[in-house]
Parts: sequence; C-alpha cells; structure tokens
Amino acid sequence: MEYCIGVDLGGTNIAAGIVDLSSKSIVRKASIKTNAPRPCESISRDIVKLCRDLCSAEGVSLSDMKWIGVATPGIVKGGVVVTASNLGWNNDDLTSILGAMTNLPIFVANDANCAAFAEATWGVGEGENSLVIITLGTGVGGGIVIDGKIWEGMNGFAAEIGHMVIDAGGINCSCGKRGCFEAYCSARALVSESRRMMSLYRDSLMWKICGGNVMRVNGITPFKSAAEGDIAARAVIDDYVKYLAVGISNLINIFQPAVVCIGGGVSGEGERLMAPLREQIERISFGMAKSRTRVCVAKFMNDAGIIGSALLGKQEE
Ligand SMILES: [Zn+2]
Repeated sequence: MEYCIGVDLGGTNIAAGIVDLSSKSIVRKASIKTNAPRPCESISRDIVKLCRDLCSAEGVSLSDMKWIGVATPGIVKGGVVVTASNLGWNNDDLTSILGAMTNLPIFVANDANCAAFAEATWGVGEGENSLVIITLGTGVGGGIVIDGKIWEGMNGFAAEIGHMVIDAGGINCSCGKRGCFEAYCSARALVSESRRMMSLYRDSLMWKICGGNVMRVNGITPFKSAAEGDIAARAVIDDYVKYLAVGISNLINIFQPAVVCIGGGVSGEGERLMAPLREQIERISFGMAKSRTRVCVAKFMNDAGIIGSALLGKQEE
C-alpha cells in the first residue's frame, strides 16, 4: 500500500479520501460541512481533524501518508490561494498552514485543475501528455494539463475557459462581461434557453416533460424532448452544440491536446451530446485525420476532486 490523502474543499462541504496509489483507488472517504466563509486557519484545523479521523477509522496513522493534496475553489498560484470568494480567503498560504499542522508534504491546486489532473493521470487521458477538461455545470469550468503538469498561468488565472469570448458583444455573463463561453454553454444557459423557447412554443414537448412547471426544467429536459422529435427542443440543442463546438475548437486550435474531456451535469447526456458535438468540432477545428484530439466524457464525476488532489504529489515526482 502507498497511501496519501485527497481533500476536496468546497463552499458547502469538505470531502476527503485516503487514496491508495498502488491500487489506484479510494480506500475510505468522509465529509464534513465547510461553514464558509471562515479564516484559512480555522478551516485548516477541520481539514486536519477530518484527515486524522479518516486515518484512525482505517487503522493507520496520519504520518503514514505520503502527502496531503487539496482541491480548493478560487485562484491558486504555487500553493497559495490568491482569492476564493466563497471561502472568504485572500492570499492565504494553505500549503504552509497545513504543512505546519501535519508535518507532511502538502500540495494545493484549484478544483478544476485537480479534475483535469485526475483525468490526465488516471482517467481518460492516462498515458497521454496533454489534456483539457471542460466542466459544464452551473458555470463552465476548465483545467489544462501540459506535459503532465497543471498549467496555472503566471498568476493562477489560467484555464478560465468559461470566460473566453465566443461572441463579441453577445449575451451577458455572470462575470460582468459579454459573449463568454459560459453564457452559452453552462447548464444554466441551457435551462434559460429552453425556457425561452417554451414561451414561444406552447405545444413543445418540454412543457409535458416538466409537468407544466418551468421551474422543473433542467439540463435533461431539452435533450429528452429533442430525442422524441420536438422541434423547439431540437433548436435549443442544435444551438447549444454549435456554441460548445466553437469553444472546444478554439481550445483544440490553441493547444492541440491529446484529449478534451467534458465533465459536469450536462456530460451525463453521453452520446446524445457527444455525437453531434464531435461532428461539428471536426468541421471547424484544425487537425489531420489520423492525429485528431480525442473528445470524450470525463471518467471521474464526484470523486474528481479527491483523486485529482491526492495525485498532485505525483507532479513533483
Ligand atoms: Zn464571463
């Protein structure tokens, strides 16, 4: 056995798992409430307690761990959390604080970057040298791994894929700018576009699927309706796929990564999303028939933070 711990620090919960590097599996996991915002020292004490509790439940000692990795929200540069608004942190050196509390090597990275690293190391990019992940959730997140390392940019702000502009002067984004990828391709955007089309097409199947209640429309509603031939839903999906293909093609044209993988709630659609998406990407991205970027669904869903953070120590090896 070769154990380390991965901690997925979120705005609501802190999940942690003991990960066995030799069997590539999570041996045991647990979670507690974050109760954010709180100072870094105070949250760090809870993280350490959670790690100790995990170890004693597993019958091992914290000092048996090779290292602890942490996936945190916000902007991270060199192990320092530059800013994380939902935790209330600014320039907090989480790496040093946890290191002093545990005497273990500590590795900290942004959560989307950890998800990218999990996929690049043990997931759909295993054995490849480069990968980009796009998470389609409430927002659009991203992470980039090049030559086996996370690319944070010179200041930690790299891979903010959701805010690349795909339509100059386009619709408003939550970041205050216009025309961002996220404004067209997040699950939130998919839901609001579905609702807009429902208001135009009163006979759309989407009304039936949500039981006449627009509050019950989710990312699955338009996919389900389109699969049954609904015209309004088909239009929603076609538009969604078109914008998604533009964003992904931009990333492919810049990085030519071995893999682009898609995570987050919308990726649960599988081939209903991926088949038309690949077709459009092939049309608008550069590449050669035999050396094209593989576009697929991510492997790790809820465990991406724990696994990706646990693997961070391997970046240094
Ligand atoms: Zn934006």
